[in-house]
Amino acid sequence: MKLQHIWKTLFYIIVSFAITMGSVSADTKFRNWINGFYATAAKHGISKATYNKAFKGIKSPDPRVLERARYQPEFRTKIWDYIDAKVNPYSLGVGAEKKRQNASVLKALEDHFGVNQHVLLALWSVESNYGAIFQDRSKLFNAPHALATLAYADRKRSKYARAQLISALKIIQHGDVQPSDMYGSWAGALGQTQFIPTSYDLYAIDADGDGKKDIWRSVPDALATAANLLVKNGWRRGETWGYEAKAPRSGYKYNGQTKTLAQWAKLGFKRPNGKRFSGTGRRAELKFLAGANGPAFLMMRNFFVIKKYNNANSYALSVGLLADRLAGYPGMVQRWPLPPGALNVDEKVLLQKGLAKLGYYKGEFDGNIGSGSRASIAKFQKKYGLTVDEKPSQNLLKAVKKAARIR
Ligand code: CA
Repeated sequence: MKLQHIWKTLFYIIVSFAITMGSVSADTKFRNWINGFYATAAKHGISKATYNKAFKGIKSPDPRVLERARYQPEFRTKIWDYIDAKVNPYSLGVGAEKKRQNASVLKALEDHFGVNQHVLLALWSVESNYGAIFQDRSKLFNAPHALATLAYADRKRSKYARAQLISALKIIQHGDVQPSDMYGSWAGALGQTQFIPTSYDLYAIDADGDGKKDIWRSVPDALATAANLLVKNGWRRGETWGYEAKAPRSGYKYNGQTKTLAQWAKLGFKRPNGKRFSGTGRRAELKFLAGANGPAFLMMRNFFVIKKYNNANSYALSVGLLADRLAGYPGMVQRWPLPPGALNVDEKVLLQKGLAKLGYYKGEFDGNIGSGSRASIAKFQKKYGLTVDEKPSQNLLKAVKKAARIR
């Protein structure tokens, strides 16, 4: 027994020694990489002082960055779940508050750039929850650290990360932000409107006139930068992103085609709220984003400009729909083809409220079933002897409502 214990102890000592040695040499390699990369940075005009400031106190790769870089979602989010995560009572409520607080700035930006203020609010919401992600830095990433980590350790993203790192160093050298405040996503998207450094280089604007293009702390700067990206990519002043459309029978055969709104109307495509399309000479692409049984959309130029921000239909549609709602228009009329048992956004909010009442959930009531909601679902399922799959469903909602005594 005793001998076994000694062996066990010895084993742990050897293993921890090996881990320590391994990490020391990994850290040394990382430091060497940073030292070696200065030659490249110097060619782009980065001073030694800027370089040292940017990497002060950074000794080892950020393991969270590599974890996120490796993460592959198990299943693709369905478009209706994606939209619910972005357009929900919470994002609408905070959006109304932010609109009030920033009324004069939003009006000035709208006048100057010709981008509807609700589109800017929607982008701000979708990108950083109206800047709220900066309240908890533990979930964010220091840009020089994250980009150096990717450049050093992620072969697939190394070229991208090196280019972004050079741009990030230029931003620091220019004095727009202190390196210790230069926070963003694991992949280097910066500030409240999430610009990668090379895009910051192209579009960043000092809108509040303090001499710094500060998309971290300055709401005017962050929103002006977003508006500038849209305008530089062909935003059409005064136009909508597109329309939800009710397709005529067998309208799906036109999916992907582009025609004028007048031509679409002639083929029998209508707005489900009974209103007319405006700007009938404008061209629009027909998109069924959830197959032939889902709603149709007629996407105009501004929809594709929003995609310059993030090249995904679901992203651009969520920005457009959120902007419409924030402007006071009603939401979508037609339903998504939800599978049996799936919850709509109001039911997801109710589920969160029930789980909160039972003490399992502590997040926002936003209908966004993320990791916090899923963990609370798992706790509930375990406690009540249900299959633990972390998935929201009608059956789960029924059980939660019963347990929490809510209707
Ligand atoms: Ca500024």
